[in-house]
Amino acid sequence: MPKKNLLPSFLAACALLASVSVMAQTVTDVPLSDVAVKTKPAAQSAVQEAVSEAAKKIPTAEEIAAERARLERMRAALAAERAALEQYKADLVKRQQEADAAAAKAKAEAAAKAKAEAEAKAAGSAASIPPPAQDDPVSAKVLSPEELQRQRQRAIERAKAIEKAVATQRAADAKKKAAAAAQTTSPKDKDVAAMKLRKITQNKVRYVHLRDVAVNYGLTFAYTKNKSNKISGATIYDKTRKVTFSSAYRDGTVNGVQVYFLYPMLLKNNEPYISEVDFLTCLDPLLRYKTPVKLGMKTIMVDAGHGGSDPGAINGSHKEKVYTLQIAKRLQTQLEKLGFRVIMTRTGDTYPTLQERAALCKKYKPDLYISIHCNSAASKTPSGIETYRAVPVGGTETKGSKVKTEKQSANEFDANSSRLAYEVQKGMLAATGGTDRGTRHQAIYVIGNASCPAVLVEVGYLSNEAEVKKIASPEYQNKIVSGILAGLAGYGSFLR
Ligand SMILES: [Zn+2]
Repeated sequence: MPKKNLLPSFLAACALLASVSVMAQTVTDVPLSDVAVKTKPAAQSAVQEAVSEAAKKIPTAEEIAAERARLERMRAALAAERAALEQYKADLVKRQQEADAAAAKAKAEAAAKAKAEAEAKAAGSAASIPPPAQDDPVSAKVLSPEELQRQRQRAIERAKAIEKAVATQRAADAKKKAAAAAQTTSPKDKDVAAMKLRKITQNKVRYVHLRDVAVNYGLTFAYTKNKSNKISGATIYDKTRKVTFSSAYRDGTVNGVQVYFLYPMLLKNNEPYISEVDFLTCLDPLLRYKTPVKLGMKTIMVDAGHGGSDPGAINGSHKEKVYTLQIAKRLQTQLEKLGFRVIMTRTGDTYPTLQERAALCKKYKPDLYISIHCNSAASKTPSGIETYRAVPVGGTETKGSKVKTEKQSANEFDANSSRLAYEVQKGMLAATGGTDRGTRHQAIYVIGNASCPAVLVEVGYLSNEAEVKKIASPEYQNKIVSGILAGLAGYGSFLR
């Protein structure tokens, strides 16, 4: 065919192609039969071409393989996430078991201590932990993202519950520990130098206001009245300590034990005062929980009174020097059993002079000195137990009024001797049930010249017929010894 004749049909074909191309873009919307009907035969190949183009949009085998690989990767990722979740769940179960074990242990301890409240708390904590999530068993099945999210949420909630239970248990444990610590820790003593105490001087004796003393030791102050309803004394006290003072006499009481002060309580303008020397050397050491002076208690010097040429008190065949040595030896035996180092001033019927006994004390430097004696009186009536300590400077003997001005070696230890005397007196009274004649002050050579806290005990009256029989008996002697040991234990707790 000549070229010029082809031009009109070529142009027509171009126009048709253009229209078919538009139709091919929307081929999915137009049924092919319609296209065929509307299309003239000249455009048939163009339509087929357009359909072929549309068919190319169907994924090829390669594309399908690639998509499959992508899905496989996604599946592998999900499987990995599931495995991690399983591990997380396993960890949570382990932690719960540990928490349950801790809770059960605490519960058992609480039950043993009969602390029902703490027990209920521990049980409550354990009960609030939700049971382990009953998830699908591990399988090849891939979990849906929603299921993974649910499991993750349950795991988080469970973890929170376990954390809370563990925290509650720890708090309960800490509380119990603190309570136990509080039971074994004494309240803090206040430093005397830091106390604010009103002071006055009367007849050259300095006094401190008793109300201020009470405040500084956390004690309640109360007046006591006599039968005529007049103020005659005072009491300072709390749950564990109680001290009474008399305005007419030197003797007061400390926790029920008779204690002689150096001066009676002074009432000035109807306000109560006690002497400063009593406050510092007697009252403070009896009120405080721990000694302010660091002293040990390892070596104890035991002094059997009299001996040899000096029989001491005598009642018929009863001689003081015999019983003091018997008691001293019993005390030595018991102290050595307890691990103390004991030094005796005498072990037989000998008479070391008072100076020699004091020299032994200075030589061996014991931690405390105990002298053992028996009492005696012109009358057969008196009976009972006394404990003596050295007279502090500025004070007077219990049976005297002369103020001591010269310091002795034992005066370095006035405060500790006061506590030691009180503890030993209390111990002997408890052990024997004897009459309380109090802790007293007297110018006794061996305790005044001791180089450590020192006391002298009068274990009973040789002049009293009933009491001398007891003093001669091993039973009573053993009671005295156990009373002294109890006193040393009390003094020991004051030292620590
Ligand atoms: Zn004696």
